[in-house]
Amino acid sequence: MVEPTSSLGVMGGPNYRTPRAAIQRELDGLRGEITTWFIDERLTSDQMLEKLIEYGLKLTHGQLHVAIKRFSLLRPPKRRPKGIKNVYPDRICAHCKESYTPNSSGQMYCRNCAPANDGMWWRRIRNFGIGKREFDVMFAKQEGKCGICREPLDLEPSNKSQTRTVIDHDHVTGKVRSLTHHWYNIRLVESIEYHERCAEYLRSHGAHETHKVRRPS
Ligand SMILES: [Zn+2]
Ligand SMILES: [Zn+2]
Repeated sequence: MVEPTSSLGVMGGPNYRTPRAAIQRELDGLRGEITTWFIDERLTSDQMLEKLIEYGLKLTHGQLHVAIKRFSLLRPPKRRPKGIKNVYPDRICAHCKESYTPNSSGQMYCRNCAPANDGMWWRRIRNFGIGKREFDVMFAKQEGKCGICREPLDLEPSNKSQTRTVIDHDHVTGKVRSLTHHWYNIRLVESIEYHERCAEYLRSHGAHETHKVRRPS
């Protein structure tokens, strides 16, 4: 059998008979340099391959990656210097069509339409076309009171509050009726007068008689 000849001419002990083993042995000798390039200097593979040519090693990407894996090298996550925020180019709000400066790459709506980066405003805009501006107009028209019980609406605390404000809408036509207290609050009221008012409210908004009872969202 003919011994494989190394392009590097390195033929060491029994483990280094193949060219591949010879290359890995050369790389072992450069472990310190490779670690510095990879972790501290964050060089790309191409840049590292160029450096290795300076050391007389012409490698493929695959050979380099085998070595990096063997050395168990992991790049630490990139950290932005403190106080420097990512800057995203201005874009058009998907709701009001005005230009704004986003705070994140995935932001769809300006802060006038969706003041918080949360699902509540996205749903209001997507399902009812009601952003913060439209919401404020409705709220003012209703003088801050629930469309059904006429008690003051609860804008805070959070989304999870049972007395929170919801956009009440016709579940058949999707048409928005008014801002009301949350359903969980409404349906537990044990008052005939209150429920008569509910019926009147639904009729005044042209609700269907055979309405399926479902939770407003
Ligand atoms: Zn907007
Ligand atoms: Zn109410």
